[in-house]
Amino acid sequence: MRITVQKTNAPKAKPSSEGALGFGKVFTDHMFVMEYNESNGWHDPKIIPYGSIELDPSSAVLHYGQTIFEGLKAYKIANDDILLFRPEKNMERINISNERLCIPQIDVDFCVEALKTFVDVERDWVPSSAGTSLYLRPFIIATDPFLGVHPSYTYKFIIIASPSGQYYPEGVNPVKIWVEQNYVRAVKGGTGFAKTGGNYAASLKAQKEAQDKNYTQVLWLDGIERKYIEEVGTMNVFFVIDDEVVTPELSGSILPGVTRMSAIELLSARGKKVTQRQITIDEIYNAHDRGALKEAFGTGTAAVISPIGELNYNGNNIIINDNKTGPVAQELYNSLTKIQTGEANDEFNWTVRV
Ligand SMILES: *Cc1c(COP(=O)(O)O)cnc(C)c1O
Repeated sequence: MRITVQKTNAPKAKPSSEGALGFGKVFTDHMFVMEYNESNGWHDPKIIPYGSIELDPSSAVLHYGQTIFEGLKAYKIANDDILLFRPEKNMERINISNERLCIPQIDVDFCVEALKTFVDVERDWVPSSAGTSLYLRPFIIATDPFLGVHPSYTYKFIIIASPSGQYYPEGVNPVKIWVEQNYVRAVKGGTGFAKTGGNYAASLKAQKEAQDKNYTQVLWLDGIERKYIEEVGTMNVFFVIDDEVVTPELSGSILPGVTRMSAIELLSARGKKVTQRQITIDEIYNAHDRGALKEAFGTGTAAVISPIGELNYNGNNIIINDNKTGPVAQELYNSLTKIQTGEANDEFNWTVRV
């Protein structure tokens, strides 16, 4: 398929200060759009000026949430080249999410190429100061104008891009996390492993209540026994107990993060013992009580590595590693970001040049 490119004749002014970008607030001049219908499959890929999309008010996505999304980053590196971090993993995950949401499969190789073409069109929008990147948001929406409940026959695949700075205003400083006991995010058999808007719709109330209590995000427990640790709002979660790094195994209700996978591969290659298994919240509190809980941190594309300095569960507050970034989290952050920005040798072949 050939991608047609229609450039804007009204380019926007670039943000004046890269320091004040924040996350996901500014969008570039163009977007990638591709359509799906039954007779043509995915077709008509194009890059067009960024702008509103027209949808019939009866569109399936607006009523039943048949939609999936992705998030990845493009980094500007020393010689003005641009690197993507494991983009094929995001496109492969789209198909895992699509399968669960009854959305037709995409061609992974074509979509990686489309992403590269799009980023190339927007190259001047990729910020270059430390900690900044062009955040890329591919997503698919069901567009059938029909109020019956069944999988849509038509879809749009869209990619938008946003020059972004730090995800948390705290930067790489430790965040405070509320262990959620009332609400659950997902259960086995549900859609927890798919990157779909409905999981987030279900999470907003808990997130809001945690923020009202001055916590950055919630830590979800499993939906059935309410004791096994699942993940943090937008991140997978890791703990360092004695010399072992542990993270919840992929149970079907946890999002399989690309950063999680990369962290496991990187730490293992550095000789660390990394175990994926069930972890109860009581185990974490017990480890803390006997002085064995050295670190806790979240992993995700948006924040990369986010140390957890404080947990609140059942009214009990614990401070982890003196509320400071620990050596494992720091080393992981340094190694990952250096590979992502081309400052370190890409020993795992993770980056793709645009
Ligand atoms: C996207 C996401 C993550 C992190 O995945 P990455 O691929 O590392 O960005 C973790 N949890 C949830 C719920 C997510 O949506």
